[in-house]
Amino acid sequence: MFKWLLLFAGAGLFYLWIKGKKQAKLNAENSRKPNKNEPEQPTAPEAMVQCQYCKVHLPKSEVLTCDDRFYCSKEHLQTLDSEGWIGDARWRISPNQDVRPENVAPDLVVIHHISLPPGEFRNQASSQHIVDFFQNKLDPSAHPYFTEIADQKVSSHFLIARSGELIQFVSTHNKAWHAGVSSFLGREKCNDFSIGIEMEGDGDSPFEAAQYQVLSNLIQKLAATYPHLQFAGHSDIAPDRKTDPGMYFDWKKFQKETGISSEKLPFGLRSR
Ligand SMILES: [Zn+2]
Ligand SMILES: [Zn+2]
Repeated sequence: MFKWLLLFAGAGLFYLWIKGKKQAKLNAENSRKPNKNEPEQPTAPEAMVQCQYCKVHLPKSEVLTCDDRFYCSKEHLQTLDSEGWIGDARWRISPNQDVRPENVAPDLVVIHHISLPPGEFRNQASSQHIVDFFQNKLDPSAHPYFTEIADQKVSSHFLIARSGELIQFVSTHNKAWHAGVSSFLGREKCNDFSIGIEMEGDGDSPFEAAQYQVLSNLIQKLAATYPHLQFAGHSDIAPDRKTDPGMYFDWKKFQKETGISSEKLPFGLRSR
C-alpha cells in the first residue's frame, strides 16, 4: 500500500515538474512577443495631414495629393468644395477677381478660347504663358504680342490646356474678369453671374478630345452645386467684340458629352 502511495506521489511530482517547464517556456515566448499596444522600436510618428475637402486628419501615406493639397478620397479630390475650388485642378490664384454682387450665385457658363501667343499652343510652355497672363506675370519681352497685352488685367475661373490639364484661377464664389462688356438674354455685366472657362486653342483648329472630356467632367461637377446653369460662348454675349470659342468649338459634341438639355443652350448647337 505504501508503495502505491509513493508511486502516486512520484507521478504527481513528475506532472507538476512537466507543467512548470511548459509554463516557463510559455512565459519566455510571451516575453519575446511584442506588445501590440506599444511600438517595438521607438520610431518617429507618421505625419498627419488634413483633407482639404472634409478636414479629416489622416496619416500622410493614406491620402491622395494634388499640388500640395491632401484628400481623404477620390470623391473629395474630384468635387467642387465649399470654398468653390475643384480638388483635382491645379490652383494658380489670379489677383484679377472680386466679389459677386450680394446673393448672386452663378447661373451661366461662358466658353472661351485663348492661346498665347495667338495660334501657338503646340508646346507645353504655351499654357504657362496663359497662367502667367492671368497672374499678371507675363514677360512683355518674351514675344512682341505680349507687350500689347501684358498690362491687361484679366482672368477666368478655369483653363483647359491642350493636354486636358485643368487649371483654376478664381473660386466659383468670386467674379473672374473674363466676359467684359456683355449681355446674356438682356442681363448685362455677365461676370457678375457667370463662370468663365477657357479652352486653350484658336479659331482655326479643332479642340482636342481630351479637352472636351475634361470640360464635360468639369460641367458635371459645377452643375452638382449650381443646378440652374445655362451655357453660352463669349461671342454670344459680346457679339460685336468677340468671336471665341469660334467655328471649331463643337456644341453638338459638348451637349452629347455633358448630357445637358438644349433648353440650357439658348444659342443653339450650330457652329458659330
Ligand atoms: Zn475628405
Ligand atoms: Zn473670350
